[in-house]
Amino acid sequence: MNCPNCKGKNLGKIGVNQYYCWDCFVELSLSKGKISLAQIEEDGTLTDLNDLFEESELRIESPGTA
Ligand SMILES: [Zn+2]
Repeated sequence: MNCPNCKGKNLGKIGVNQYYCWDCFVELSLSKGKISLAQIEEDGTLTDLNDLFEESELRIESPGTA
């Protein structure tokens, strides 16, 4: 899986179905075959980034369920 935001592979797992991109500092949550992106602000709040992406960009590529 690559980060939809920066296309990087530098993802760290931070929880169940949750990852963090160390390259662009966004949190990725996986649910129902889709990725939700959120940016963590300096004050700790999350800003939803999903509006910046196309639906197809947020789909998790899982071979076998195409
Ligand atoms: Zn990234």
